[in-house]
Amino acid sequence: MLENTSATVVLKKGRAKSIKNYHPWVYSGAIDRVEGDYQPGDIVRVVSYDGNFQAKGFINPKSQLFVRVLTFTDEPIDATFFEQRLHAALKQRQRLLPARTNAFRVVNSDADRLSGLIVDYYNGIVVLQINSLGMDRLRDVVVAAVRRILEPSGILERSESPSRKDEGLTSRKEVVWGTVPDRHVIEENGVQFWVDLQEGQKTGFFLDQRENRQRIGQLASRHKRLLNLFSYSGGFSVYAALAGIPTISVDISEPALALARENFKLNGLDPNRHQFVVANVFDFLRQTEERYDFAVLDPPAFIKKKRHVAQGTRGYKDINLSTLKKMEPGGVLLSCSCSHYLDWSLFQKVLFAAAQDAGRQVQIIGRFGQPHDHPVSIFHPEGEYLKAFLLQVLEPME
Ligand code: SAH
Repeated sequence: MLENTSATVVLKKGRAKSIKNYHPWVYSGAIDRVEGDYQPGDIVRVVSYDGNFQAKGFINPKSQLFVRVLTFTDEPIDATFFEQRLHAALKQRQRLLPARTNAFRVVNSDADRLSGLIVDYYNGIVVLQINSLGMDRLRDVVVAAVRRILEPSGILERSESPSRKDEGLTSRKEVVWGTVPDRHVIEENGVQFWVDLQEGQKTGFFLDQRENRQRIGQLASRHKRLLNLFSYSGGFSVYAALAGIPTISVDISEPALALARENFKLNGLDPNRHQFVVANVFDFLRQTEERYDFAVLDPPAFIKKKRHVAQGTRGYKDINLSTLKKMEPGGVLLSCSCSHYLDWSLFQKVLFAAAQDAGRQVQIIGRFGQPHDHPVSIFHPEGEYLKAFLLQVLEPME
């Protein structure tokens, strides 16, 4: 039995609106009382003030998210429930996956109604990331479901996100089933990449940029060279190099750039014909005297908490300003942000301010969000984070 059938969370009067709108997070401020005994992380029922069933989900009094909803239906939650959710998520990915691609996100937490669970599939190896106490306690159930539905040869848990602290959890990294190599080759749109499963950032690869990498690959042959800022293991660079242009990858992480070189070789490209610069991008942009006709700017999230919005927004403005200044007239820049709190409108304002200070005419020629394997639930806009503006950077203003 996975559920606690003796405890019930009762909402305050008039506080059932958000849950009626299928929002999966119930904040502590909306709770009137909990009836019955429970352990943090249990699956409990949530009822309105007048006692009507609303939802079932993980309870965690340590977290601001007092309940993370798993279902709004009064249905049993057992091992089959998790298998079905995983199976549904997998089917959706398989329907929409591009050709010659064997790496994708299978479960994207609340968007797939599995709050606090990330499941990434890397060509036969699964990397799990657990970010909620309830899911953490059900780790064995999750692993069993993953084995059954995805039939991987190995499962690695990389639950190292700082957000685990908010749930009272510490970080954990271990092989939970089968065998997991340190490094593993995946294919994405027919391009091969090494994924550093054990030491790579996040779960090893930034799967969410798959479509943008392909876009850059498609635009590359009409440009002289690509400046790839915050390149990580060279994803954007490899696509551009395969289209026949030289690339410059800049990242602060030496191991990331070492892997980028390996990724060039893996695709039959000679890394010695390309540049790999270990540097802080802010310093690199200050120092470079060259001009660039094609660039990608994909910084890490500068805004991780709401209270960092003002400071982080300045960071985005600075980095975009510095990049715009280095663009040749007519140059194309893909400017990305993976901060949830920098929404589309604020991001566009940042670009406006950067263009104004750079004194450059800038046209928006594309706006791109998350790919199908990183869906955003319409009921849970908090799940949106990735935004990219494709910009054409024209002559200086008169
Ligand atoms: N575009 C990449 C993902 C970028 S992730 C891809 O398609 O795979 C962000 C990267 O920024 C990480 O590799 C991290 O090492 C790097 N980074 C973080 N701060 C940096 C800084 N100040 N200067 C340079 N690189 C930085």
